[in-house]
Amino acid sequence: MAELEGLEFGKSDFVLLDEVTMEQFMENLRFEKGRIYTFIGEVVVSVNPYKQMDIYGKEVIEDYRGRELYENPPHLYAVADAAYKAMKRRAKDTCIVISGESGAGKTEASKYIMQYIAAITNPSQRAEVESVKNVLLKSNCVLEAFGNAKTNRNDNSSRFGKYMDINFNFNGDPTGGHINNYLLEKSRVVQQQEGERNFHSFYQASNNDSLCHKAVMAALKVIGFTAEEISSIYKILSTILHLVSPTLNALEDYLLIFASVFLSVCVKHISELTSTEAENARKTLLYRTVATGGGEVIEKGHNEKEASYGRDAFAKALYERLFAWIVGRINSVIEVKDYNPALHGKNTVIGVLDIYGFEIFDNNSFEQFCINYCNEKLQQLFIELILRQEQDEYQREGITWQHIEYFNNQIIVDLVEQPHKGIISILDEACLTAGKVTDTVCLDSMNKKLGQHPHYTSRKLCPADKTMEFNRDFRIRHYAGDVTYSVEGFLDKNKDPLFQDFKRLMYNSSDPVLKEMWPDGKMSITEVTKRPLTAATLFKNSIIALVDKLACKEPYYVRCIKPNEVKSSMLFDDGRCQHQVAYLGLLENVRVRRAGFAYRQPYARFLQRYKMTCEYTWPNHLMGSDQEAVEAIVNQHGFEDDVAYGHTKLFVRTPRTLFTLEQERSAL
Ligand code: ATP
Ligand code: MG
Repeated sequence: MAELEGLEFGKSDFVLLDEVTMEQFMENLRFEKGRIYTFIGEVVVSVNPYKQMDIYGKEVIEDYRGRELYENPPHLYAVADAAYKAMKRRAKDTCIVISGESGAGKTEASKYIMQYIAAITNPSQRAEVESVKNVLLKSNCVLEAFGNAKTNRNDNSSRFGKYMDINFNFNGDPTGGHINNYLLEKSRVVQQQEGERNFHSFYQASNNDSLCHKAVMAALKVIGFTAEEISSIYKILSTILHLVSPTLNALEDYLLIFASVFLSVCVKHISELTSTEAENARKTLLYRTVATGGGEVIEKGHNEKEASYGRDAFAKALYERLFAWIVGRINSVIEVKDYNPALHGKNTVIGVLDIYGFEIFDNNSFEQFCINYCNEKLQQLFIELILRQEQDEYQREGITWQHIEYFNNQIIVDLVEQPHKGIISILDEACLTAGKVTDTVCLDSMNKKLGQHPHYTSRKLCPADKTMEFNRDFRIRHYAGDVTYSVEGFLDKNKDPLFQDFKRLMYNSSDPVLKEMWPDGKMSITEVTKRPLTAATLFKNSIIALVDKLACKEPYYVRCIKPNEVKSSMLFDDGRCQHQVAYLGLLENVRVRRAGFAYRQPYARFLQRYKMTCEYTWPNHLMGSDQEAVEAIVNQHGFEDDVAYGHTKLFVRTPRTLFTLEQERSAL
């Protein structure tokens, strides 16, 4: 707790700032070296300390357990507890949305939140609940091994989005859960930027002795993966390593190699590892079956480009399906079984979302487009929920609400996802058109249809803009800033084709685990009639479903800020932080919070805390109801104009009122 002391010197809640300006906000954000959390009402703003802090121990957990948000210094635990209390006391489904850019501390925050929930539940140590908790906690280790990688921004960067529901019984103990994963960055399997690495799992697989590998193996076993399943997982990893081996890539004539001795060795490994016929594996790498117009099926040899393209697509798909299968397998273990609401009461949920933040790189491609679209959706939800939550509470309590305006990004969401007119639709249309529609042709079509949109700019409309290329770039004015996307590769990534032959090969594997991952390999080429949905549409659908899930829950937010680019515990880069504060909409958040009532507290709690400052309530409570007693305190201090009385709570407009009361209380 030592590092949380000294808090009185800074403002624990940005709502208490004298003025809501960027300067004051920044001053308070970096106020104390030791303080990494600050509230905006119920939102926690977190700055990555880049060093181990002594603030997560058992005693600290005890300090936060069951307490109200303002009773303790700001902390993730305060939010976790608030979400837990709402869920338990009011049987509300809640969710904790953690956002921020890569390296800002989202995943660490989600782990602390889960540890907190695990620590405060199941006091009677019931074995079945302990086992659920154990699996939930251990799933992190497995998902990080397979879904995280070292990048230039973060040594342990999550390359997928994760949403986890934890289910609770009427006692408030975890009974199970469900994990949804979003858009794994599978291109990493075949290619990484300079200084970056492949997914952790590949290094762990080749270094069996490492501590990480042992931890993952132990976690897999605890979760309930069988020895056969674990063996299949590692065989798939090895297959991918063979497919993308640098020796294969470095050799010049791919087809020649495949015709050589080397090919037979390589194919031998691949067919053994995937339990497929060597001849089938060889053929699949070199040929594809196509149906002619007359319904005839022929084998067509690949040229070199097609062969290496097919191989890469295969390696990526193998990994993507492996990851999805692992998530599904964990879900099958933690899924709530035999829950009878009539018998056990309402099954409530806390969802935890740890998903990639807004990305602006030097070169932005399809992946950034999807990720930034996802962030637009989440920002839209933030606006909707934060406003709605406030409004709902005022309405419930019978208080008049003062509306505050701020930028509504729905227009950008529409630009991307609107049927027929949005960018995704135009991309899909281009992908469905037969023949050679290139990225550039698609860009032309976007420019024509969207050229007038206030948040879309094509190079053609701004000929003076030297930062964009004529036939390559388009720009979206996102709520978080302008991003120029290079359209190169968009169509291919969106179409994401994989020759049916690979699917068939895997489906015909005698390894049951592998076979299970490729149900669509059952069809022959003549049976494949429906075009699979494009990558952008699949992603859009999954994000819309996610937003629907979040929207019906009571939301709690953790907004993570990355203090510098160099992982330093000493450096606070003002410019970078200001940018994040701006695009996370934190100043608006403070304004909204202040425009209404900065504080609200149930009458009984308010009375409990401040009764000693009023002669009618101390030492004896002479008033009738709690509300009357609170009115006596307010009147005695002359704060009548600064408060409103709700049905169950007192609402305080300015933070100064609470401040004065606090000071008086501590002076006694
Ligand atoms: P990405 O989007 O790339 O997955 P992220 O927001 O999930 O990034 P984390 O992996 O949580 O970022 O954090 C990056 C690193 O910062 C951690 O590996 C850890 O070293 C450090 N870090 C983050 N939060 C904390 C914390 N509360 N205490 C100490 N170190 C932290
Ligand atoms: Mg992460």
